[in-house]
Amino acid sequence: MRPPWMALRRHGFRGSLSPPSPSCTARPFLPWVHMTRLVPRIASRQSRRPLLTLAIESSCDDTCVAVLDKAQSGSALLHFNDKITSDNRSFRGVHPLNAVVSHTNHLAPLIQKALRSLPLAPENDVSEAAANNPNRILVVDGCARIKPDFVSVTRGPGMASNLATGLNTAKGLAVAWDVPLLAVNHMQAHALTPRLVNALDLGRRKQDTIAPQVASSNNSDDHAPLPEFPFLSLLVSGGHTMLVRSQSLNDHAILATSLNIAVGDMIDKCARMVLPPHVLSGDASTSGMYGPLFEKFAFPEPNYNYVAPTRRADEIAVFDSGLGWTLTPPLALMGQGPEAASTYDFSGLNGHVQKLVAARPEMDVDERRLLAREVLRLTFEHLVSRVLFALRDSEKAGERVKTIVLSGGVASNKFLRHVVRAMLDARGFGDIQLVAPPVSLCTDNAAMIAWTGIEMYEQGWRSELDVLVSRKWPLDPRAEGGGILGLPGWYRVES
Ligand code: AMP
Ligand code: ZN
Repeated sequence: MRPPWMALRRHGFRGSLSPPSPSCTARPFLPWVHMTRLVPRIASRQSRRPLLTLAIESSCDDTCVAVLDKAQSGSALLHFNDKITSDNRSFRGVHPLNAVVSHTNHLAPLIQKALRSLPLAPENDVSEAAANNPNRILVVDGCARIKPDFVSVTRGPGMASNLATGLNTAKGLAVAWDVPLLAVNHMQAHALTPRLVNALDLGRRKQDTIAPQVASSNNSDDHAPLPEFPFLSLLVSGGHTMLVRSQSLNDHAILATSLNIAVGDMIDKCARMVLPPHVLSGDASTSGMYGPLFEKFAFPEPNYNYVAPTRRADEIAVFDSGLGWTLTPPLALMGQGPEAASTYDFSGLNGHVQKLVAARPEMDVDERRLLAREVLRLTFEHLVSRVLFALRDSEKAGERVKTIVLSGGVASNKFLRHVVRAMLDARGFGDIQLVAPPVSLCTDNAAMIAWTGIEMYEQGWRSELDVLVSRKWPLDPRAEGGGILGLPGWYRVES
């Protein structure tokens, strides 16, 4: 049998074809074969060329770097995806300056680490690799590796100085490597995450049969990214609560958003108040992220015994604990008109919980657990209520939404997934597919920035090198400023 790397000849590599030298084998054999598909010498059309990008995310307190490739077939391979979160212990939340210091400390070393996971060049010998493909090779630790086709970075929205750390570093890399810069929208990246997840799944499946894939030059197995547009996304995180209708790559309509605090922030605040002191310690107190602890306290086991409200009237019924306190669902009196449908409110419920617990410090663990469960139930039903309004409006417009995506840190809550599914089923939307990306891709990460860079690049978009960060960068093309493409600094090349 011929060694698999001989298949590279079909892809037009020049020079000798031998496996990488042992000192440069950072990855096992099969992925190396897959990676070599990244650099066919002559690409038939630019849009069909496999793509490799290095991406940086620094919009908040996470310093993140990723290396991602997407093959012609639509499958993706994540070579590197790492993050370091700033130590927020003394600040009870994210402190912008503290986070900038953390980005400045950690970004360059993280990039240095990421470069060691770039795919190896097909040639064994560095000088041979450099001679054969001088513009496609980086020498890292004495090994010839494939240079990214472009650099992706978060341009906004986020904290200005934090974004600038990543953007300026990305510009430096793009200039040094003589490759384009793709300065992308962080919220667009959250919205596109399910398409990344699908491409990664495809990539994992293909690795099982990688040799025939490498040898094949026909593209009959090509896949367009899934889920297809349009789809609805519920972006629920520490900084955002948004219901988004993704219509196309650059058209994301915000159907509902929070009047005040974000749902993750509200959960963190309630958790600090409701959790018994003996639970309120450990890792969460270092990061300020109490959501997972709150979920575990409310539901030590995922036995929810939950009955979904079958009518809107049931959703907005006041909860009476029978212990001397009640909870009123958010915006219970607001009706179902367009204003209500586009509004989330978490500040009211949070304020109520803060006062309630302050007035009843003697609450025992069982009572606190009941409160935690009801807070989560009312919060999640409020989230889904706006999804149901949106589905109702789609039906009226004669469209049936096929997919709903749950993303953002709060989407890792299993009870939320349960409530969404149960409410959809109870209200006649049992056929809608629910997609929840894995937690590591739901929270802020650079893999989603890399994917967004790739999708934008494939459509011919590039960023000017003089672009500035954008603290507020609306997603919706109908919003003031024109959404993603409304921000100056984009140019388009023919694909
Ligand atoms: P992000 O802003 O996307 O990084 O997500 C962080 C937010 O998600 C924080 O407010 C967390 O408390 C919240 N979160 C993370 N895991 C959970 C969970 N299991 N349940 C509820 N909230 C969570
Ligand atoms: Zn985010």
